[in-house]
Amino acid sequence: MLAATNYFFNRAADFLEMDQRLREISLTPKRVVKVEIITESDDGELLHHLGFRVQHNSARGPMKGGLRYHPSVDEDHVGALASLMTWKTAVVNIPYGGAKGGINCDPRKLSERELDEITRRFVGEIKDIIGPTIDIPAPDVNTNSQTMAWIMDEYSKFYGFSPAVVTGKPVELFGSLGREEATGRGVMYVLEEHLKQSGRQLSDITVAIQGFGNVGSNAARLIAEQGGKIVSIADIGGAISNDKGLDIPELIAWVEKTGTVKGFGDANPIDGEAVLTCNVDVLIPAAMEEAITVDNADKIQAQIIVEAANAPITPEADEILRRRDIVVIPDILANAGGVTVSYFEWTQNIQQFRWEVTRINDELASVMRKSYGDVAAIARDGQLDLRTAAFVLAIRRVAQAAMSRRHFRVKLPNSLMA
Ligand code: NAD
Repeated sequence: MLAATNYFFNRAADFLEMDQRLREISLTPKRVVKVEIITESDDGELLHHLGFRVQHNSARGPMKGGLRYHPSVDEDHVGALASLMTWKTAVVNIPYGGAKGGINCDPRKLSERELDEITRRFVGEIKDIIGPTIDIPAPDVNTNSQTMAWIMDEYSKFYGFSPAVVTGKPVELFGSLGREEATGRGVMYVLEEHLKQSGRQLSDITVAIQGFGNVGSNAARLIAEQGGKIVSIADIGGAISNDKGLDIPELIAWVEKTGTVKGFGDANPIDGEAVLTCNVDVLIPAAMEEAITVDNADKIQAQIIVEAANAPITPEADEILRRRDIVVIPDILANAGGVTVSYFEWTQNIQQFRWEVTRINDELASVMRKSYGDVAAIARDGQLDLRTAAFVLAIRRVAQAAMSRRHFRVKLPNSLMA
């Protein structure tokens, strides 16, 4: 996965005519931490896990990125996601660098008490390299506001009451209103902006979504509220479709009860893969990495893909989609709504002040709309796809910040100073 992230970076670096040394510096993480976590299971057995935190770049501010609990977590994986965070925070111009972390585990096999203990041990190992002005974790796949509450509580035992050490906390523990749905809401705003370019709006489109967790379900609900027709949805348990449009509030209630979209009444069961290739205007991958590969890129019928998940398209598939003139709104722009509202949460924690949800949503809309406009302008002027344009914008911002701080003194090429 790291290779894929570097490939997309290098497309933009080629456009910017960056030399090899500057590319190396931009891609190498600032710090990589791997720790051993030994705990006990509920029945007294030894549990043994590895935890990771990769801090990629801090030129633009404290590092920021989620924590993932998943069997696929390793240094390469977390490193790629950390790099994406550097470019993502730069695209939306919030004052952060990039980081990511996680624990290699299968949380479905762990009880709540076991997860609590594993999380606290992990904090014990990384507490000196995180903090409100250093590195601020947040939820990602299989972590949530409860995980963030454990981290905040454990960290505060060492450093005093520190709500700003993590974002995505429960609202009653200084979390932000609007954080839960922020990534899905951001997806809706960038899609709306993109549609405006061709005189369309959300009520004109049909949509298929892979993944119905935090991001997928909120994107579905918010797009449907604006009149968009969500016709197909897949999750890990199954996939469903209804050409007339799925009833999203009913489906959310169903998934809360059963844990999967499978078996939902007012829909036909379909194959999971068919969700990616069905006949819709917009496809939203909102599950895991590498959903779209050489095996299915040729069969995709949607004309627009919004990357709500991180890295859902492999470089080879991206090439095919570009050749087929399918527009991809890239992850580092499309799913940046989550980290943007995390920034608002951190800001509120530092100010010890609470914003109303209308203010959160208005400010999020303005960040996402402006960022889409910035990226689209670079794409237009440079004849670039949106992903390469987003990387160009981000690389320039990071390089200029590093230069201003005199992290290096060599003169940057003019292409980076634009
Ligand atoms: P989640 O755990 O809440 O939901 C994941 C969903 O994907 C679930 O519905 C799961 O069933 C489904 N899924 C997993 N594997 C699948 C498969 N093979 N086929 C079909 N469905 C599958 O996670 P989330 O927070 O919604 O995150 C989803 C993606 O969005 C991840 O790539 C994450 O990194 C990215 N992301 C999340 C946030 C956030 O704020 N949560 C922010 C930015 C990016």
